[in-house]
Formats: sequence, structure tokens, C-alpha cells
Amino acid sequence: MTDPVARLLKTARGTPVDDPLRITGVMIQYYHVCKRELWFASRNLEIDRENPTVVRGTRVDETAYEESRQNLHLGMISLDLLEDGRVVEVKPSSTLTEPARMQLSYYLWYLDRVAGIQKEGVLAHPRERKREEVTLSETRVKKVEDTIRGIHGVVTRKMPPPAEEKPFCESCAYHDFCWC
Ligand code: SF4
Repeated sequence: MTDPVARLLKTARGTPVDDPLRITGVMIQYYHVCKRELWFASRNLEIDRENPTVVRGTRVDETAYEESRQNLHLGMISLDLLEDGRVVEVKPSSTLTEPARMQLSYYLWYLDRVAGIQKEGVLAHPRERKREEVTLSETRVKKVEDTIRGIHGVVTRKMPPPAEEKPFCESCAYHDFCWC
């Protein structure tokens, strides 16, 4: 079987491929938050997006930096690009920093590998007035590519991974699928 990273790159570059693979930034985040959540999301299970207690983070994502943000869609990714040219990912809190950092790293990797665009990133938590610079180091490249392979492993499972209780299960859209 072709390596999932090669499959994703071929798909993103528009090369004809028998088994296209598409991975979004949200999938990268889910993978690092909960693999079971990723599996449910990959099956398009409905969630209540109007309920702010259920959906983590969307409210701040939609309002913060509103005046200066530009939305950029490129193939599988959709990101915010501020005026100084850095890719900014806005999150409401720093409690899930590593998943957000990986999502942003994926955007930087995708821009570099698919479009030949090298960018730096900023992870911003406006409520906490925190900002963190993220660069696409070799370590980050390896983590992104390992994540792509891991996501492929999860979404091609016939059944979801078992539920493992986490601090944020209460606010997860799929809570009732796991714990009721
Ligand atoms: S409720 Fe918890 S275990 Fe279940 S999908 Fe959500 S985060 Fe994962």
C-alpha cells in the first residue's frame, strides 16, 4: 500500500491517484485530542454546532482578530493569514495546546510541501493574551507526517477506537456515544 503521506501529497497536487487521501486541519486536531472523536467525525456523525458548550472553540475562532484576518483556502486546508504574512491559528484557551500546535504545523507543512510556500506560524490565545511562535522544524515535519499516517490508520478502522475517559469528555459532541 502507498504511504499515506505520498497519497495525500498526490491528492493535494492534483495528480491522478486511485486512492485519494484528504486530511483537514480539524482532523489533525482531533487525532491529538481523541482518536475516537476523529473516527466519529470521519463518519459524518451529526453534532449540535449551535451549542457552545458542546463545540470546543468555535465562538472565539469566529470573532477574534476579525478585522485583520484574511481567510485562505488551499485544497484541504483553510487558514487565517494576518497582515504580517504569518499563519495564525486562534484558539480560545491553551488547555489543548499541542493539538492546536499540530494543526498549525500541518498548515505550515501543507503550504511548504504542496505549494512551495514557506511560512512561520503563530498560535494565539486572545482570551489569555498569549501568543506562541511555531516553525516547521524537522521534528515538526516528522510529527506531522507521523500524524498523517496515524490518522489514516484510525479512519480506515471498521470500528471506532475504545472510549478512554479524558478531562474534556463532558464538553465533547460525542459524549453520549461514549458514556451513556
Ligand atoms: S466523549 Fe471523550 S472518549 Fe468519547 S469521543 Fe469525546 S473525547 Fe473521545
